[in-house]
Amino acid sequence: MCCNFDGHLTKEKIDKIKRDYGIMTMDSSDYWEPMIYKTLHEKKVVVKKNSYDDVPSPGDSPLFKRSVGELKGQIADWRATFTNDPGCVHAVEFKDRFELHYDRFDPAKRPIQHLIFDSPAYGVLAAAGAIATFALIKTIFKK
Ligand SMILES: [Zn+2]
Repeated sequence: MCCNFDGHLTKEKIDKIKRDYGIMTMDSSDYWEPMIYKTLHEKKVVVKKNSYDDVPSPGDSPLFKRSVGELKGQIADWRATFTNDPGCVHAVEFKDRFELHYDRFDPAKRPIQHLIFDSPAYGVLAAAGAIATFALIKTIFKK
Protein backbone atom coordinates (compact mmCIF):
# COMPACT_ATOMS: atom_id res chain seq x y z
CA MET A 1 0.00 0.00 0.00
CA CYS A 2 2.90 2.31 0.66
CA CYS A 3 3.84 3.32 -2.87
CA ASN A 4 0.44 3.84 -4.35
CA PHE A 5 0.92 7.47 -5.34
CA ASP A 6 -1.61 9.38 -7.42
CA GLY A 7 0.38 9.05 -10.61
CA HIS A 8 1.94 12.49 -10.66
CA LEU A 9 4.76 11.72 -8.24
CA THR A 10 7.02 10.05 -10.76
CA LYS A 11 10.45 8.47 -10.30
CA GLU A 12 12.01 11.63 -11.80
CA LYS A 13 10.15 13.84 -9.34
CA ILE A 14 11.28 11.66 -6.44
CA ASP A 15 14.88 11.88 -7.67
CA LYS A 16 14.57 15.66 -7.91
CA ILE A 17 13.13 15.88 -4.37
CA LYS A 18 15.99 13.70 -3.08
CA ARG A 19 18.57 15.96 -4.75
CA ASP A 20 16.90 19.25 -3.79
CA TYR A 21 16.44 18.35 -0.13
CA GLY A 22 19.52 16.18 0.23
CA ILE A 23 17.74 13.06 1.44
CA MET A 24 19.90 10.01 1.91
CA THR A 25 18.16 6.74 1.31
CA MET A 26 19.18 4.34 4.00
CA ASP A 27 16.75 1.51 3.74
CA SER A 28 14.65 0.85 0.65
CA SER A 29 12.04 -0.98 2.72
CA ASP A 30 11.48 2.05 4.95
CA TYR A 31 7.74 2.67 5.10
CA TRP A 32 8.20 6.35 5.88
CA GLU A 33 10.62 7.31 3.14
CA PRO A 34 8.00 7.45 0.34
CA MET A 35 5.70 9.31 2.75
CA ILE A 36 8.35 12.00 3.08
CA TYR A 37 8.50 12.39 -0.71
CA LYS A 38 4.72 12.48 -0.87
CA THR A 39 4.58 15.18 1.81
CA LEU A 40 7.26 17.27 0.10
CA HIS A 41 5.30 16.94 -3.13
CA GLU A 42 1.79 17.53 -1.80
CA LYS A 43 2.66 19.55 1.37
CA LYS A 44 0.08 17.67 3.45
CA VAL A 45 -0.54 13.94 3.80
CA VAL A 46 -2.73 11.94 6.17
CA VAL A 47 -1.77 8.34 6.96
CA LYS A 48 -4.55 6.39 8.66
CA LYS A 49 -3.60 3.77 11.21
CA ASN A 50 -5.74 0.84 10.17
CA SER A 51 -4.39 -1.23 12.98
CA TYR A 52 -1.37 -0.66 15.10
CA ASP A 53 0.54 -3.33 13.21
CA ASP A 54 -0.12 -1.86 9.79
CA VAL A 55 1.76 1.41 10.08
CA PRO A 56 5.17 1.27 11.74
CA SER A 57 6.19 4.05 14.11
CA PRO A 58 8.23 6.85 12.53
CA GLY A 59 10.66 6.09 15.36
CA ASP A 60 11.52 2.88 13.50
CA SER A 61 12.71 4.92 10.54
CA PRO A 62 16.20 6.42 10.64
CA LEU A 63 14.77 9.46 8.83
CA PHE A 64 12.46 10.57 11.65
CA LYS A 65 13.38 11.86 15.08
CA ARG A 66 11.11 12.49 18.04
CA SER A 67 10.30 16.17 18.33
CA VAL A 68 7.89 18.64 19.79
CA GLY A 69 5.02 20.53 18.23
CA GLU A 70 2.24 22.86 19.09
CA LEU A 71 -0.16 20.86 21.26
CA LYS A 72 -3.32 19.86 19.45
CA GLY A 73 -4.25 16.53 20.99
CA GLN A 74 -1.51 14.45 19.41
CA ILE A 75 0.39 11.60 21.09
CA ALA A 76 3.75 12.39 19.54
CA ASP A 77 5.59 14.61 17.09
CA TRP A 78 8.23 13.40 14.66
CA ARG A 79 10.41 15.32 12.27
CA ALA A 80 12.53 14.39 9.30
CA THR A 81 15.19 16.97 8.53
CA PHE A 82 17.27 17.54 5.40
CA THR A 83 20.83 18.56 4.68
CA ASN A 84 19.99 20.97 1.82
CA ASP A 85 16.87 22.58 3.21
CA PRO A 86 16.08 24.44 6.45
CA GLY A 87 12.62 22.88 6.56
CA CYS A 88 11.42 19.51 7.77
CA VAL A 89 8.61 17.04 7.33
CA HIS A 90 6.62 17.15 10.54
CA ALA A 91 4.58 14.04 11.37
CA VAL A 92 1.96 14.64 14.04
CA GLU A 93 0.84 11.33 15.51
CA PHE A 94 -2.74 10.97 16.68
CA LYS A 95 -4.40 7.84 18.05
CA ASP A 96 -5.87 6.89 14.70
CA ARG A 97 -3.71 8.67 12.16
CA PHE A 98 -0.56 10.54 11.29
CA GLU A 99 -0.83 14.01 9.82
CA LEU A 100 2.25 14.93 7.83
CA HIS A 101 3.05 18.40 6.60
CA TYR A 102 6.03 20.38 5.51
CA ASP A 103 7.37 22.99 7.93
CA ARG A 104 9.40 25.66 6.19
CA PHE A 105 11.77 25.85 9.14
CA ASP A 106 12.94 23.04 11.39
CA PRO A 107 12.56 24.33 14.99
CA ALA A 108 15.89 22.73 15.95
CA LYS A 109 17.72 24.73 13.27
CA ARG A 110 15.70 27.97 13.03
CA PRO A 111 13.50 28.27 16.13
CA ILE A 112 12.42 31.87 15.53
CA GLN A 113 11.54 31.41 11.88
CA HIS A 114 9.70 28.22 12.79
CA LEU A 115 7.52 30.09 15.27
CA ILE A 116 6.80 32.87 12.81
CA PHE A 117 6.18 30.82 9.69
CA ASP A 118 5.08 27.39 10.90
CA SER A 119 3.20 27.95 14.18
CA PRO A 120 0.47 30.47 13.44
CA ALA A 121 -1.23 29.86 16.81
CA TYR A 122 1.86 31.01 18.68
CA GLY A 123 1.94 33.93 16.32
CA VAL A 124 3.89 37.11 16.41
CA LEU A 125 3.75 37.43 20.19
CA ALA A 126 5.70 34.23 20.79
CA ALA A 127 8.14 35.20 18.07
CA ALA A 128 8.66 38.59 19.66
CA GLY A 129 9.19 36.83 22.98
CA ALA A 130 11.75 34.51 21.42
CA ILE A 131 13.60 37.42 19.81
CA ALA A 132 13.62 39.27 23.14
CA THR A 133 14.97 36.15 24.88
CA PHE A 134 17.68 35.75 22.26
CA ALA A 135 18.64 39.41 22.60
CA LEU A 136 18.83 38.98 26.37
CA ILE A 137 20.99 35.85 26.10
CA LYS A 138 23.27 37.64 23.65
CA THR A 139 23.65 40.57 26.05
CA ILE A 140 24.42 38.24 28.97
CA PHE A 141 27.10 36.37 27.06
CA LYS A 142 28.73 39.52 25.77
CA LYS A 143 29.68 40.53 29.29
ZN1 LIG B 1 4.60 21.51 11.90
